This record gives sequence, C-alpha cells and structure tokens, in this order.
Amino acid sequence: MIYKRSSALFQEAKKYIVGGVNSPVRAFKAVGGDPIFVKKAKGAYLYDEDDRRLIDYISSWGPMILGHAFDPVIEAIIETTKNGTSYGIPTELETKIAKLAIDMVPNIDKIRFVNSGTEACMSAVRLARGYSGKDKIIKFAGCYHGHSDAFLIQAGSGAVTFGSPNSPGVTANTAKDTLLARYNNLEDVEQLVRANKNEIAAIIIEPVAGNMGCIIPENSFITGLRAVCDRENILLIFDEVMTGFRLAKGGAQETLGVKADLVCFGKVIGGGLPVGAFAGPQEIMSHLAPEGPVYQAGTLSGNPLAMSAGFETLNYLNEHPEIFDSLESKTKTLHEGIDGILKAKDLPYQINRYGSMISVHFTDQAVVDFDSAASGNNKYFKNYFHGMLKEGVYLPPSAFESYFLNDALSYEDIDFTLSALQKIADADIL
Ligand SMILES: *Cc1c(COP(=O)(O)O)cnc(C)c1O
Repeated sequence: MIYKRSSALFQEAKKYIVGGVNSPVRAFKAVGGDPIFVKKAKGAYLYDEDDRRLIDYISSWGPMILGHAFDPVIEAIIETTKNGTSYGIPTELETKIAKLAIDMVPNIDKIRFVNSGTEACMSAVRLARGYSGKDKIIKFAGCYHGHSDAFLIQAGSGAVTFGSPNSPGVTANTAKDTLLARYNNLEDVEQLVRANKNEIAAIIIEPVAGNMGCIIPENSFITGLRAVCDRENILLIFDEVMTGFRLAKGGAQETLGVKADLVCFGKVIGGGLPVGAFAGPQEIMSHLAPEGPVYQAGTLSGNPLAMSAGFETLNYLNEHPEIFDSLESKTKTLHEGIDGILKAKDLPYQINRYGSMISVHFTDQAVVDFDSAASGNNKYFKNYFHGMLKEGVYLPPSAFESYFLNDALSYEDIDFTLSALQKIADADIL
C-alpha cells in the first residue's frame, strides 16, 4: 500500500471535515481512490505523508509559479510576520504591491485587494452592475469564476438560454440574471445581446480558460467580444485569476492583445497566501466604496502577511520576465513528449497548451468549449492519472483542470515525467 498513511489520514479527516477536504476537487471524486496528503513541498516537488516524492504539475492550482517554498517569498513572510499579521489599518506594503501590479498590467489605474479569486470576481460583477445600472451578465459554460451564487449557473434547456442553478441553494432569481454562452461562440453572445438589449452589464470570461482543461480562445472570438462590448456599452471582465502574472507580466490582456474593462486576479498575485484583487480604469473603479457607492470590504483584505508573499512573487517575476518564456518552452517540451508517446497508442487524445498551461483530453474532438472538453473518456483519464501518480507525478485529479508548470521544474523533471508516461503506456495501463 504505497498510499497507506495518506489513506489513513483521509479516513480521519472525513470524521471532522465535510468529505475530508476543504475544496471538493481535492477529494479525487473524478478519478477515484483516496487523495494524497502532503507533508511538505519544495521547488518542483511535493513530499507526501508516505514519504514519496512527487513532481508537482498543479503548483497549488497556479500560485506557486516560482516553485514551492521559494526562499525570497518565505523570508519575506517570516520577516513581515514578526511585526504582526493583521491590523485592519492601512500599511505602506499595500501601496507597494498595488503600484507594482498596476505597472505590470495594462489598462488598469486602480486596484482593490481581497482574499480570494471568488471575492474578486463577485466584487467585479457588483461593480460592473453598480457602474452601468444594468443587472444581467453573460458567462461562458465551463468557465469558473469562484463559487459565488451568480456564477454557479448552468445552461438551461436549449443551447442559448437563461441559466439555471447548478447547485442547490442558488435561487432561480439569481440564475435569471446570468446568461450562458458557449466558449469560442460569438454567435451565442450576439443572440443573447439581441434578446437582452440594454440589460447586460458585463461579459465575464477566462481569457484563456483553465477550468475545463486548458482552452485557447480563437482570435476572432476574443476580439469579437471586445467589439460587441464596445458597440453595446457592456463591460468586458477578464477573469485572470489563473492567467494573471502567469502568461506574462500583463497576463492574457498582454498576450492576446485585447483590452479588458475590469480584470480579476487571484492565485499568483498572493504567492501562495489567500489573495485576490480586481482592477480597472479610474473611471470605473471610482464607483467603489469609499470613493463611490458600490460597497465592498474585508477585515483581512490587504493584510501584511499576504501582501508580502504577493509582493515578493510579483516583484521576482517583474525582475525576471524571462521566466514566462522559459515556462512556455518547458511546457512545449512536455507537450511534444506526451504527444510522441500517446501517438504510438491506439487511443483518441488532444493536447491543449497556452503558455505554461496545458491539458490532455482523451477525445478525438478538438477541445474548444465545455461540450468538447466533456467528451473526454474518463476511463482513460483515470488510468493516466493514477498511473502517473504511482510513478511519482502529480497531475490535476480531474480532466477539467489545467496543469500549471512552475519555474522550479527542470528539464530532468520533464524527462522523468515522460519516462513515467512511457512506462505506463508500455505496460498498457493506458
Ligand atoms: C481559482 C479560480 C477562481 C476562484 O478563486 P478562489 O481563490 O479559489 O476563490 C476564479 N476564477 C478562476 C478563473 C479561477 O481559476
């Protein structure tokens, strides 16, 4: 039993924590089996409670872009902590990280820090509604914007329709203000806009999607969204919780060359501590309290502990922008390696990659939206996931999640990963 202690800890956790986890994907429901419990992590590696070393391809779902327990970040956290962890009173550090983020990211003048990506997206939508005086939003099936009510919406009957709640506890009244379109489908958006003339406050999108695997926006789609928003006076919100400070200093706005009206951050911006943020031009942000009437607040928002981890991470990226290219090259090497091995097997697969985000889907359809992502064969995926885990490679435990490479990952680690894949391919585990 190579997962003996992890499994025992999971049984114990389940007695006290709902489902044994504090966020559902960690429970391995999509792949079966018991989750791995982590004892510590350093650089590119996780060390589990059974003393196995695992190469980590999730990087805490993105934040650990510089690798785990990165020394400058850890030192900053320790030093800051000695002076206290939260005051509920302004600190200079908040201005330092705000100024840096605004320098790095295009099209933003002002920023507000919160404690999670969920809060960032929820607050950005409230601001968009308060600013525009309109109630409805458009989101795309398969995009995740955190767990606030307005986003826990699935398509109703018919391809383009009002949303319906996809979790009990979300009311039908909330759902009716969230309209659903298919990713990469501008015609869906045009139809919704026509049917809800002058009622749509904002379109929110993951500019490169990472919550249905990695999905790349077609150029005509993303530039088309910008044009629709300009024409119809709708705010375009880029949820860059995954892509921000990961794809480039300026995130997807920079790599896609498309301007957003509001941008949401999370993950990397906190360097491994709980931080989110939303930002935009002064004209819009000035509607936020205390400058304007749209309310938003947080007891621990901007706390020095989180701000110091975030600042060190952003500052390091700002001073070492070659990291973005290097991550992309490593991801490309991984892509080509996986492709070479899977090609020799008689199974359907697609590999999607953008920057340091990549995902493997066991389907013969091009994966461009939620439906095509959902067409993946989950039996293959489970075998792939568990086969790799056994060999010492930790991949996302769901076909709907992207991998996030980190800077500590070496080419030797990628070789190790590909040898592991070759091994399970040869053993017909796939
Ligand atoms: C993770 C994620 C969120 C939610 O962030 P939390 O910090 O988990 O609340 C929102 N949007 C996107 C695109 C994400 O990937």
